[in-house]
Amino acid sequence: MTAFLELRNVTKVFSSGILRKKRTVALDNLSLKIDTDRPMVKAIAGESGSGKTTLGMMLMGFLSPTSGSVLYNGKDMRSLNRDEQRAFRREVQAVFQDPFSVYNPFYPVDHVLEMPIEKFKLAKSRREARALMEEALSAVGLQPAETLGRFPHQLSGGQRQRIMVARALLLKPRLIIADEPVSMVDASLRATILESLRKLNRDFGISILYITHDLTTAYHVSNHILVLYRGSLAEAGDVEHVIKQPKHPYTQLLVDSIPWPDLEHSWGKNRIPSGKSAVQPVSATACKFADRCPHAMPVCGQQPPPLYRVDPTRAAACFLHQEAAVLPREEINALFV
Ligand code: SF4
Repeated sequence: MTAFLELRNVTKVFSSGILRKKRTVALDNLSLKIDTDRPMVKAIAGESGSGKTTLGMMLMGFLSPTSGSVLYNGKDMRSLNRDEQRAFRREVQAVFQDPFSVYNPFYPVDHVLEMPIEKFKLAKSRREARALMEEALSAVGLQPAETLGRFPHQLSGGQRQRIMVARALLLKPRLIIADEPVSMVDASLRATILESLRKLNRDFGISILYITHDLTTAYHVSNHILVLYRGSLAEAGDVEHVIKQPKHPYTQLLVDSIPWPDLEHSWGKNRIPSGKSAVQPVSATACKFADRCPHAMPVCGQQPPPLYRVDPTRAAACFLHQEAAVLPREEINALFV
């Protein structure tokens, strides 16, 4: 079946510096399908520089791949006609990190909700537009009477972000890409925003791609997770398995940096020190984690590890799992059952 949205063997290289000779590989041969017939919450997790935001920008159509392709309903994004582009703009919505930057401080917050209603002609009258706005605000747990007519500075960061979620909902999208939606919001308000995203998935059948550096929220919100390291997939699969029993040394590092509330769990016990590997990469195509990995072997410095299917719902790109079957990267969705 044709996927709603698909990255197929996508690599993205940015050039910079004098004569643009400095090359940074932001994404390296990544494949991923987003099916909307079984709406799921997928998390894309990694540190700064992992490529997760580049991946999100590419799925939103803001960036083109250097090689590989991004397909919308089976068609390359670069060859969509005007009607298909318009359908894409409606079906794929984004929620960004900084909700404040989207608002015009001189307009009440109604303005950000009215814009998509006008642009996509969602209502025939002002009364109908008002009803749509109230319905969307209620769906994300906001009181319309206490929200509409207010100016951005009169609302909390959490309320402003939930209005952006309501704005995305107005268009009845099939996919919402939420890029670090709670990182600029007080910790006490994060749960309400994340719960509204889950509600959209549960009650409205909208697929959610949750991009984050925070494994704790990824664990609470998502069904599946992909962990990226320097543009490459390190580990992917069922979130419960990946977070509770990580198989890739990098995921183990990330999980070990979570400040668990469980006092029995010793935080940092298995910390992997940076630059303490016995193996330094000798090949440009070595495992990218080889210079930090305490388990590195000679082979790790010579070639990139394939993706090994370590159990039915999870795969890790690490030679420690060489006894497992190799999972072709284009077939990664076989993990997301
Ligand atoms: Fe470590 Fe080697 Fe696995 Fe890379 S492939 S994570 S260097 S053990």
